[in-house]
Amino acid sequence: MTDPVAEEAGIVVLASGNAGKLKELQDALSSTGLKLRNQSEFDVPEAIEDGSTFIENAIKKARNASAFTGLPALADDSGLVVPALKGAPGVHSARYSGGDDKANNEKLLAAMSQLEGDSRQAWFVCVLVLMSSKTDPSPVIAEAKWHGQISRTPKGNYGFGYDPLFLVDGFDGLTAAELDIAQKRAVSHRGLAVSMLREKLGC
Ligand code: IMP
Repeated sequence: MTDPVAEEAGIVVLASGNAGKLKELQDALSSTGLKLRNQSEFDVPEAIEDGSTFIENAIKKARNASAFTGLPALADDSGLVVPALKGAPGVHSARYSGGDDKANNEKLLAAMSQLEGDSRQAWFVCVLVLMSSKTDPSPVIAEAKWHGQISRTPKGNYGFGYDPLFLVDGFDGLTAAELDIAQKRAVSHRGLAVSMLREKLGC
């Protein structure tokens, strides 16, 4: 059921259980007037992310949160795409190895051990979906990419996930894990997708 008080207050449910992501998106969207609240505050059950594209999964997450709370919902889905691996790890980026970030990076390096030159190209994708209700036929969608190459050894201490292996195009051999939060936000897939969403919302 819709809570008219929450709706009136401009509350948007963030379809993620990740507190770090909530903070990052809240900061980036602070001037829009949207008040993001994590879906865990509403006991929203996890959506089943069985889509084969980032957009499908982001829509599933946003629709699930909106259906459960009766409020507008924002979801993000992201991951790493390596064309030479037929798009893997792709939508399975978080659970590629079945282990933690380090295990994911090791699996990626092993899968790419025979690949040289342009075959090591990759990009991160971030899709943001804002749905006004569970039946919104026309959600606001922003999708952005961040291009780079996969190195042979991890480097850097910032960030998370595949950042230590991601040599950022135009950054002279630096990996994403060597950029601080502000530098990364200025050029990353997530930073760019947030800017695109703000533009689409006109704020
Ligand atoms: P999710 O969007 O939280 O489901 O993230 C998907 C997975 O993609 C993460 O667990 C990471 O493995 C990877 N990923 C997404 N964005 C980034 C990034 O900015 N840096 C490194 N890895 C990322």
